[in-house]
Amino acid sequence: MSRLLIIGCGGVAQVAIKKCCQNSEVFTEICIASRTKSKCDAVKEEVDKWTKTKVTTAQVDADKSEEVAALIKAYKPDAVLNVALPYQDLSIMDACVECKVSYIDTANYEAEDTNDPAWRKVYEERCKRLGFTAYFDYSWQWAYEEKFKEAGITGLLGSGFDPGVTSVFSAYALKHYFDEIDTIDILDCNGGDHGYPFATNFNPEINLREVSAPGSYWENGKWIEVEPMSIKREYDFPQVGMKDMYLLHHEEIESLAKNIPGVKRIRFFMTFGQSYLTHMKCLENVGMLSTEPIEFEGKQIVPIQFLKALLPDPASLGPRTVGKTNIGCIFHGKKDGKEKTIYIYNVCDHQECYKEVGSQAISYTTGVPAMIGAMMLVTGTWSGAGVFNIEEFDPDPYMDALNKWGLPWVVEENPRTVE
Ligand code: NDP
Repeated sequence: MSRLLIIGCGGVAQVAIKKCCQNSEVFTEICIASRTKSKCDAVKEEVDKWTKTKVTTAQVDADKSEEVAALIKAYKPDAVLNVALPYQDLSIMDACVECKVSYIDTANYEAEDTNDPAWRKVYEERCKRLGFTAYFDYSWQWAYEEKFKEAGITGLLGSGFDPGVTSVFSAYALKHYFDEIDTIDILDCNGGDHGYPFATNFNPEINLREVSAPGSYWENGKWIEVEPMSIKREYDFPQVGMKDMYLLHHEEIESLAKNIPGVKRIRFFMTFGQSYLTHMKCLENVGMLSTEPIEFEGKQIVPIQFLKALLPDPASLGPRTVGKTNIGCIFHGKKDGKEKTIYIYNVCDHQECYKEVGSQAISYTTGVPAMIGAMMLVTGTWSGAGVFNIEEFDPDPYMDALNKWGLPWVVEENPRTVE
């Protein structure tokens, strides 16, 4: 029996909401709160037809911590699941501290205004100190450790697929297959086709910022940064086939480097087709990926937000996307003195997801783990005061829940490795 406040009602949130509603023994009541309440009401109307979970809705501007706190005080949830945007992480965490309620999210904090001088100063100092230039990093949220401890609440950071499931796979590999892990390659393959010349599978602004940034990986205790899309490999993905993939910076590298003892190298690769890359390069070259406002016919517009308005809504890709995703990790290390390599992955079929919850697999593979993370906290399966990355908890109950709630995984011994 629990009450969950879910903030956000986009592609990922809608899957998380439907999964909570399927799991009504655990989530007896949920409140869906977002900037646009009509979206929350539409989802409520849909799930009310079949769920036992009592669903209510609310309007909230989650950029305003005081609005989130007021909602928490009125609704009195056992936990808050943040599936809005990374821009809202800190304001929601502030409200959770004030109201002493646990917090779960799927992506680490990113500043919306990267020209804000106060933010820029901290960012530039961090770039020099750590050696990667991505706009997002965990330092902002790890800084809440003491506040969460004092409030006696749990902060569970990054319960999506990557970060999230890939981090749990890492904890599971370490617990059951290795004495030490030397290298981790995280491979994110989307073999789906939505039939549009260009669209992004989740929030375009977040997605395009991630993909157009320099790549980086962790090696021998430090970050190595490379030009965007400059490291390319091919991999033959089980159930998907041969794909080109490119090295990206990705947030779980930062926490896994801290939490997997002795790991020597962590890399992240994502597959992209040539058409996606050509479109992205062109948009970047003409300035459409810029987050800096420009004056247009007497109005201030942010190019990437205007582009978002032109692109298909990721939530609308569900009916048209066919094919499968394969996301997982290849681990190399030692067990009982012997070298060993394993690959843990999940394959998810876009059309199967659409049949079940009306979404494509990218939202599905993030929304299901968001529900599972919330379940781990509200059932007390995972507990502790402070801010935690997901690999810091016992992976076994989460791995069981993945099998049960739609993301079954496979362990392959001696897989093909990435050079
Ligand atoms: P969408 O853009 O589809 O949805 C975002 C939702 O947040 C919308 O409902 C939006 O409201 C709402 N929102 C935005 N700003 C506010 C605000 N100030 N107050 C209240 N609500 C707000 O994004 P996605 O569903 O694709 O992504 C959701 C999250 O999941 C993101 O943080 C993303 O980074 C993360 N993610 C994580 C992945 C992982 O594997 N870990 C993979 C994919 C995504 P409105 O409808 O009014 O715009």
